[in-house]
This record gives sequence, structure tokens and C-alpha cells, in this order.
Amino acid sequence: MDLSNISTIREVLTRHGFTFSKKLGQNFLINPTVCPRMAEACRAAAGVGVLEVGPGIGVLTTELAARAEKVCAVELDSRLLPVLSETLAAHENVHVVQGDVLKLDLPALLAQEFPRLKIAVCANLPYYITSPVIMKLLESRLPVESLTVMVQKEAAERLCAAPGTRACGAVSAAVWYYAEPELLFPVGRGSFLPSPNVDSAVIRLRIREQPPVRTADEASFFRVVRAAFCQRRKAAVNAVSAGLSLPKATVQAAFQALCLPETMRAEQFSLEQFAALTDRLYPVH
Ligand code: SAM
Repeated sequence: MDLSNISTIREVLTRHGFTFSKKLGQNFLINPTVCPRMAEACRAAAGVGVLEVGPGIGVLTTELAARAEKVCAVELDSRLLPVLSETLAAHENVHVVQGDVLKLDLPALLAQEFPRLKIAVCANLPYYITSPVIMKLLESRLPVESLTVMVQKEAAERLCAAPGTRACGAVSAAVWYYAEPELLFPVGRGSFLPSPNVDSAVIRLRIREQPPVRTADEASFFRVVRAAFCQRRKAAVNAVSAGLSLPKATVQAAFQALCLPETMRAEQFSLEQFAALTDRLYPVH
């Protein structure tokens, strides 16, 4: 069954009485070249377990299943379960779990699904939860080697933007803290049914074994980063002081001690400078 063929998709979905939900970000891939590329990019192979978020009708799932040892696919929409039972019938190494990826206990799920396997995440993510899903996957410190995900093109550029560059935001800084991101390839809006009104791109985040900077308190580090970017057009001195309810003089003194210009904005900070600022503002004794 060719799951990227529009006639096949329409026939299967009509037979199951399925209608697309915009709310759940249901835009299914119909470009036959994209899923094989994603499956290769995530290094699905013997000895590798792949966690997929949102299998839809299983177009990416079948490509992953053909390469990986096992695939666990988490789908929120229970209406797709009978569809997936049919489209994935030939793949015994796929387990579909019905649930919300944002609510599931992912460390427990991965331990149960993939004992003794290397693990990768691969997904065409629903647009409405791109950042929360990526942040949950990163912050949970899952034993995964990489995340290969399709997201909206603008989100891909933002997520991959390096600290110290104009496009960097709080989420990009967090991505760089946990992973080494790479923009892989663009995917036009015409590659989906129904066609969304935005283009997409596939990115790969290779999870770091250790963060690239050390800070005494990680939670404070992320609070400083978020505060600095919260008012990104302002000088970071003011944004950090306002965002963390710290006296401006305290933040100014920290900037001076670190030789950081007071005019500096969040997008000009390196991760090392954010870490140094955090340790000045919140010293751990
Ligand atoms: N993988 C399929 C493809 O590429 O054609 C479908 C991708 S579609 C962009 C996103 C999928 O995620 C849909 O099947 C949708 O039902 C599912 N989804 C939406 N929110 C979800 C959530 N919170 N947890 C798990 N799956 C979700």
C-alpha cells in the first residue's frame, strides 16, 4: 500500500469515515521522497528503536519500520487507531500507543519499549505543539541519540539559530545547550494533504553527552536566558532585572564584573556568557 499516494490516502480515510482535524495539526505527507530521507537521517537501523510522535496514517512509520529494530508510535487521535491497524499490518515491529506525547511518562515508555536498544526520535510534528514537544524531549534527558523532526520552516530556522546570532531566541539557546542542531532540508507546503499555508523543514538535533557550558544551577541558567529574551529588543541588563525582579544595580554590577557591555542584547550572548552571568547573579555556596 503506497501511503504517500493521494488516491490511496483518500480511499483508506473515506472507508474509515475519517476527516482531518486542523486542531490536531493533521497534515499528512504525500511527497514520496520525504519519509525515506527522514528515516535515513535519523539513522534507523538494526539495533535502533525509534520513537515516532504522531504517525497519522503511518507513512513515515512504514519507512522507519523497514529499517529500525522496533518503532513505537504515539498517536493522540484514537480515530486513527483502526486506520493504523490496517496500514501497518505487515510490520510486526511497530507498537502504536494511543496518548498525548506531552502527558506521557516518556522515560518509562522508552525503558519499556526499547530495553537494550539505541534510541532515536523521528517525527513530522503537529505545528501547534512543536516547541513544547521538542523542549519536553530535551528536558526529560531521555536516553536518545538524536531527534529528527519536521517543523514549520520559520521554527526550524529559529530552533537551529546559534547563540550570538540575530535569529537566536530562548528556545534556540536551550536547543544548543542540549544538542547540536542541523537544518537538513526544506519541504514545501504542496507535500501535504491538506496543504498548510506554511512551508516546512526537517532538522536533526544530535543530543550532547554533556552540556557545552557548566553552570552551578541549571534552573537559574534557564531563568536568566528566558528573562533576557523575554524583552529581546531591550538591553539585557534591563530585561534580566525586570524579568527576575532583581535590582538593576545588582545586574549592572554583574555585567561590569564580567566585562559585558551594558548595551548588550540577549541575541548577542554566547552560552558561556549566559552561564557566567547566572553564576554571578545566583552564586551557589
Ligand atoms: N506522520 C504523519 C505524516 O507525516 O503524514 C502525520 C503527521 S501530522 C503533521 C501530526 C500527527 O500528530 C497527527 O497524526 C496528529 O493526530 C498527531 N498528534 C497531534 N497532537 C498530538 C499529541 N499531543 N500527541 C501525539 N500525537 C499528536
